[in-house]
Amino acid sequence: MDELTLRNLELLRQELKEADRVLVGAGAGLSASAGLSYLDEAVFREYFPDMYRLGYRCQYELVGMKDEEWTVGRKWAYWATHIHYVREILPPLPLYAELKALLEGKDFFVVTSNADRQFYRGGFPMDRLFEYQGSYDVMGCSRRCCKHTWESLPSLREALKHIDHETFECREEGLPRCPYCGAVAELVFRPENYEEGFQRYADFVNSSAEMRLCILELGVGFNTPGVIRWPFEKFTRLIPGAKLFRVNRGYADIDHPGHPKVPKDLPDRAFPLAWDAGEVIRALRAD
Ligand SMILES: [Zn+2]
Repeated sequence: MDELTLRNLELLRQELKEADRVLVGAGAGLSASAGLSYLDEAVFREYFPDMYRLGYRCQYELVGMKDEEWTVGRKWAYWATHIHYVREILPPLPLYAELKALLEGKDFFVVTSNADRQFYRGGFPMDRLFEYQGSYDVMGCSRRCCKHTWESLPSLREALKHIDHETFECREEGLPRCPYCGAVAELVFRPENYEEGFQRYADFVNSSAEMRLCILELGVGFNTPGVIRWPFEKFTRLIPGAKLFRVNRGYADIDHPGHPKVPKDLPDRAFPLAWDAGEVIRALRAD
């Protein structure tokens, strides 16, 4: 750890002890640090053999996949395989339990852009968690015949059985469908109870206006900065007692510089920690 990161780590340690509340924001970097790597070629070859054969080398290459480039069969073959790995092969990752232990006894709230359900599986109370971009567990109707959403895993397990491994397409009879109108289903960002979750998050932030608030951002980059990163900067400006700690490291192997920078207009209230989220959490627990 460099000197600046060490110094900011100590400030964070103190702030966690003394703050009235803790607001945690978590992005893909936290799950990557915990062991869900979208860059791991060995994992990809083992669990995504069809796609490996098609020339892909890691899950990260598929992040920007565009609907129009893939048939509906290919899309569901991919989602069924990917979500089966994330939700049913990968166990609850211990780093999440460590983060939960770090927050034990504190008045905290977590907002995440991760759809992988690791907070839920790690035993975080759902009334203190908002999954801003929904989760892999929910699907809805592609035709939006109604506002209902439903659990995705049973139909994804079924889709998995209907993948043609030559073409890597899910066969027609295995495609997840809307139980109300029969149209093909789609993964949705907003489950039916989305508004309630958002309201709990908003209430937590609004009622912290006069408090000493420790804002801890873990592994949030620039894929969707409007979800956590920019709002956290705004909260820090608006709440006089707030301090923002931005934990974000680079990955030299993929030429990723990391995004620990904090806004210049918050010199005494926003602190970068250019380090791995897991190592920061473990260092904070080693008191
Ligand atoms: Zn429908």
